[in-house]
Amino acid sequence: MNNLQKIQHVMEFPPAEQQHGFALKLMELLVIPTFVIDASGKVLIWNRACERLTGVPAYEVLGTADHWRSFYSERRPTLADLVIQGRTGEVHALYDQHAHRSEGADNLCAENWCEMPRVGKRRYLAVDASPIYDAEGRLVAVVETLRDMTDEKRAQVALEQLATRDGLTSLANRRCFDDTLAAEWQRALRQQQPLSLLMVDVDNFKQYNDAYGHLGGDECLQRIANAVASEMRANDLVARYGGEEFAVILPNQALKGAAIVAERIRCRVEQLHLPNLGSDAHVVTVSIGAATALPSVDTDPSQLVATADSALYRAKHMGRNRISLPFQEPDTAASRA
Ligand code: GH3
Ligand code: MG
Ligand code: MG
Repeated sequence: MNNLQKIQHVMEFPPAEQQHGFALKLMELLVIPTFVIDASGKVLIWNRACERLTGVPAYEVLGTADHWRSFYSERRPTLADLVIQGRTGEVHALYDQHAHRSEGADNLCAENWCEMPRVGKRRYLAVDASPIYDAEGRLVAVVETLRDMTDEKRAQVALEQLATRDGLTSLANRRCFDDTLAAEWQRALRQQQPLSLLMVDVDNFKQYNDAYGHLGGDECLQRIANAVASEMRANDLVARYGGEEFAVILPNQALKGAAIVAERIRCRVEQLHLPNLGSDAHVVTVSIGAATALPSVDTDPSQLVATADSALYRAKHMGRNRISLPFQEPDTAASRA
């Protein structure tokens, strides 16, 4: 047999049953974790890569509809179940990320954290579910392939954390503050709601550092950050503005409400009873400047920051450990800063 004959021999299609066996073997050995469910939702195929990923051997799930147990500790459908049951509309409620593949509206892909009860390690899985139709166009099975994206997801979360969080206090950083203030300003403009801002500065912090060292100072800033954060509502944002200064964005909050929050923060920090002999109160205190604006098209958020800064400056001048409000009316606060 010459080389050409050998190639022709290899290329010859095997009989149908051999093709079937070959396809099953291929699926079995595929390095991509894959399972197939039939029209009644029972597992037809559970390949070896799927066994390795889930820690669940094929003999336990084949012929059952218990495959969800390999991924979740509480009963819920897998992506394949949504496709086979015609419930693809529920995908957005069940998955962090999801999309229809462009080549077919029935073909779903989604991403999610899974508990993986058998291996005991949470995994972030990217999942594809593809329907299989018979010659008459009836849906007879769904094949689900899985990719373990845990490392990539953790790296992405860590990067996002680095980009938006302050390393010492874990509060939002200055960049996140600037972005959030700009976004909240636009929202307040659209919805014609007031937007309030507090600038919080630690009093006589240089003396605290001198007395307790820089590390002691760092710990003090962490305690203050926690105290300020504990006073926030869900939509408020507290950020480390810089050094020993914090900024608090209070969406849809008028000046009166902002003053109440400011006073609560001031009390909360005082009640930490962190000793600071350099301050009149002998404990660590903060001064807070508040400002409110009803945004208009010819004003911008930097004016709100300037108004809150001026109020803070006055609080310092009046003796520290106090809150200070702007002189002007809320709706003109930003423009007259
Ligand atoms: P005032 O009441 O007028 O605000 O006085 P102050 O001493 O707090 O203000 P000043 O601006 O003179 O000093 C701020 C100090 O905060 C000096 C600086 O070393 C310290 N500081 C800024 N960032 C950090 C930090 O990340 N860690 C520590 N430990 N200290 C910091
Ligand atoms: Mg200070
Ligand atoms: Mg300062």
